[in-house]
Amino acid sequence: MRRVSACLLIMIGITFISGCTEKDRMYKESRELMDTFCTITVVSPSKEKARKAIDRGFAEIKRLETLLNYFSGGSEITAVNKAAGIKPVKVSRETLEIVKKAMHISGITGGAFDPTIAPVVSLWRFSKDISNPQVPSKDVAADALRHVDYRKIKINTAESGIYLAEKGMELDLGGIAKGYAADRAVEAIKAEGVKAALVAIAGDIRGFGLNTSGQGWRVGIQDPRPDTVSQRPWEDVFASIELKDNAISTSGDYQRFFIKDGKRYHHILDPETGFPAESELISVTVIAPEGYLADSLATAVLVLGVEKGMQLLESMGIGGVLVCADKKILLTKNLKGKINILNSAYRLVNLLSK
Ligand code: AMP
Ligand code: MG
Repeated sequence: MRRVSACLLIMIGITFISGCTEKDRMYKESRELMDTFCTITVVSPSKEKARKAIDRGFAEIKRLETLLNYFSGGSEITAVNKAAGIKPVKVSRETLEIVKKAMHISGITGGAFDPTIAPVVSLWRFSKDISNPQVPSKDVAADALRHVDYRKIKINTAESGIYLAEKGMELDLGGIAKGYAADRAVEAIKAEGVKAALVAIAGDIRGFGLNTSGQGWRVGIQDPRPDTVSQRPWEDVFASIELKDNAISTSGDYQRFFIKDGKRYHHILDPETGFPAESELISVTVIAPEGYLADSLATAVLVLGVEKGMQLLESMGIGGVLVCADKKILLTKNLKGKINILNSAYRLVNLLSK
């Protein structure tokens, strides 16, 4: 396991909740997939139907993990990376689709999100187990950056082919794959005929329908700077929000990082510098109609910073909860009045009065 962390706590119970329709119950199961904990909750009157839907959801996540994992020698992404500068690789419909979506997000974020960031990611080791983490020199980072450019991903839709136009280029879909997998898992679960479900792949969560109380799914947003370090940090939340037929993702500088000489180095890298994004943001939560959007935009906004990030989300009509280092929270217009702040150290401010 490279990483086991969830940044959003799903604030629901697995047991029957009073007030629900006579036969509906919630069934929930967690498994380790995509390097993290995945939890699927479904609402169904039938235990058997629920079991089938949950199995199908997990099978879908597993299938995508096999296709998209950067670290697995057998994945399609690895095949594309190995053939960089040599030849196009024929891939599955899903791999083609997610790469196209990633390229689209790169375009609308001006490259703040870039799925070809892998050569730079490889320079950094953000695992907590590393005893003496190293900061690459600016020259080394600049050298790796020469291989980072989403515009050099060439797609051939008719042939279902992906070609990385230069040797040394590599795809890393770590900033979008979990949200996309949550989307696909929800589709698989819907196909089993259940009327509501929540799929959480760590902090990338997609919901549909209502829980057994007839309400949306209440999810918490992890505290990026808790006073004390908990054994279960994902349960330490500073705010909660209700999810209906949409998705939520959080990216933050606290999820994978190391501190060296008093400075925090985290896993979301600025494709302009090759160094961790230095916006004043420490956590970005995005609420969007689809998981891939929420996932990739949360990563991008952390790079873009407050002004550009807010502008982008507002222009798309997508929800955002942006947390600055001083614990001030900025909300997009469409989320005003929809978020519960649970920790008084955090306070809502307006963009202008920030
Ligand atoms: P997330 O946790 O969704 O914000 O994704 C973070 C992961 O995305 C990192 O661990 C990298 O694998 C990858 N990543 C880091 N920086 C970027 C970036 N600027 N654009 C796209 N992917 C990135
Ligand atoms: Mg992301």
